[in-house]
Amino acid sequence: MSAPGEAPDRSRAVVVGGGLAGITAALRLADAGLDTTLVETRPRLGGLAFSFHRTGGAGGLTVDNGHHVHLRCCTAYRWFLERVGARDLAPLQPRLDIPVYDVERRRLGRLRRTALPVPLHLAASLASYPHLSPVERIRAGRAALALRRLGRIDPNDPALDGQDFAGWLRRHGQSPRAVRALWDLVGVATLNARAPDVSLGLAAMVLTTGLLTEPGAADIGWSRVPLGHLHDTLAGAVLEKAGVRVVRQGRARTLRPEPDGTWRVEVDTGARGFAGGETLTAGTVVLAVPQKEAHRLLPEGAVAEPERLLRIGTAPILGIHVVYDRKVLHRPFLAALGTPVQWVFDRTEASGLGGPGGARGEAAGQYLTVSQSAAGEEIDRPVAVLRERYLPELARLMPAARSARVRDFFVTRERTATFAPAPGVGRLRPAARTGAPGVWLAGAWTATGWPATMEGAVRSGLTAAREALAALGRPHDDVFPEAA
Ligand SMILES: Cc1cc2nc3c(=O)[nH]c(=O)nc-3n(C[C@H](O)[C@H](O)[C@H](O)COP(=O)(O)OP(=O)(O)OC[C@H]3O[C@@H](n4cnc5c(N)ncnc54)[C@H](O)[C@@H]3O)c2cc1C
Repeated sequence: MSAPGEAPDRSRAVVVGGGLAGITAALRLADAGLDTTLVETRPRLGGLAFSFHRTGGAGGLTVDNGHHVHLRCCTAYRWFLERVGARDLAPLQPRLDIPVYDVERRRLGRLRRTALPVPLHLAASLASYPHLSPVERIRAGRAALALRRLGRIDPNDPALDGQDFAGWLRRHGQSPRAVRALWDLVGVATLNARAPDVSLGLAAMVLTTGLLTEPGAADIGWSRVPLGHLHDTLAGAVLEKAGVRVVRQGRARTLRPEPDGTWRVEVDTGARGFAGGETLTAGTVVLAVPQKEAHRLLPEGAVAEPERLLRIGTAPILGIHVVYDRKVLHRPFLAALGTPVQWVFDRTEASGLGGPGGARGEAAGQYLTVSQSAAGEEIDRPVAVLRERYLPELARLMPAARSARVRDFFVTRERTATFAPAPGVGRLRPAARTGAPGVWLAGAWTATGWPATMEGAVRSGLTAAREALAALGRPHDDVFPEAA
């Protein structure tokens, strides 16, 4: 706090929350010359996109809490990767190509693009997609064009936000099979909910941005190394270089106004039970924490109807992890139909299976992650039950798994993986600016226009920092003008 009679110190900033939103905001504020502190409860940065080490079962593995993909159109997240020096560690497919195997009909289809302009880039793939009948393919093409028209209007239009995607698909002639084999196949993975539980506005936004704007927009990228390397190790080093003080294992307990117009953040610190404490004061505070925590910390009157933050629901993602004694999946990933299995990813190399240096040939085996979105019904099932359910399904999907030995099986459960993209969620999501001067909100759940993604998180951090700097009258280079 400044001494009586002195102008309040506006050169300091505190960012609460070391997920992608908070890291981004802290970097941008520090880049613009603010004396910035980033406070994160956990011992590591990266928030919902992190890694941990697992010993036992199959030897040492570095495991991501959930397999994370991004698309070429995720320009803010691509900027983030560049900023932390990791762009080459999370490369994009040269061209969108999703293998989709229907277990019941034993047919492999591909959703892939050509170099033709939109929407012709997907036409050939849709025309030969074996999981739909010829009539369903034509109807799907028509619905895609209608969706594109919606996406062009304004996906944030409250009238669209209030409707559910399933009703719209029905009205546009989409059969239950088309919903399963096409719309939900992509939608569940990107939105973490099935069509009946998805806001039409968000569905239109994500599907048109990914599939119907630029030909390459939906080319898929993923990290070749553990997420923790990108979001904790590299990001931590870049924050330090930018001059950000990072307080790990520091939990912001309260946020209170000071008489001079600055803010006081009381932080509980200390590895064991937060034994210590620290008081930080700053003219700028960015709350980049989940919605419940933001609701708790926000000063009174900072947002209209603060309870609406609590009405933004959450949705779980379940990870099934299997280490086989040999290679059973001969592609980087596979989407599945006719089975509870949704998407399977090969994480052998990224996990370092086989010890330092990574997998060495067949001897090391193969480590697969099954990503189960919208997993409300299964998220609390015991490991043994999930094992009994999923191992036979994986054997149906990948015949080589039938004769392979399972060296390790475990699950990861993220109960609040994303905000729920439910109809009406758009009007609950707050902007970065709050009614408390100097206090800003960030996080994938804020009003980014995007579903809960790494892209949304980075965008929110860029927006909060840009608006905070503009309010301070500080010059700042607009690294990412589209993030408005
Ligand atoms: C299993 C899983 C799979 C996913 N798959 C994908 C995917 O494929 N593609 C994609 O783009 N996105 C995916 N996501 C979503 C993506 O990870 C998130 O949207 C994004 O990481 C959210 O970042 P954030 O910074 O907004 O919030 P968070 O990551 O939640 O960060 C908030 C941080 O605030 C900290 N915090 C909370 N309270 C306090 C406090 N009082 N004081 C200090 N710190 C505090 C928390 O510890 C946390 O680190 C997935 C998420 C999960 C869990």
